[in-house]
Amino acid sequence: MESKTNRFLRGFLPEARVGPSMDSVRKGLRSGDIEKDTYERLNCSGCEVTLETKNDPDALGKVRRCPECGKEWQRIG
Ligand SMILES: [Zn+2]
Repeated sequence: MESKTNRFLRGFLPEARVGPSMDSVRKGLRSGDIEKDTYERLNCSGCEVTLETKNDPDALGKVRRCPECGKEWQRIG
């Protein structure tokens, strides 16, 4: 259950990472933070670099990470 404060902060700072949750790759694509190039690779829109895959045994699914800005997206499934 998300706290009222977290919801409040998220409303003002949609980019802020509040709590342990991570945006999914799908959400990143929808919001324009991630773009697919012509080879179907995932790129960080801000840095224009290809996302790397991070091996995190604790994460559900795979984590895609931008080597430039360090932002991470979770690939579910
Ligand atoms: Zn980036």
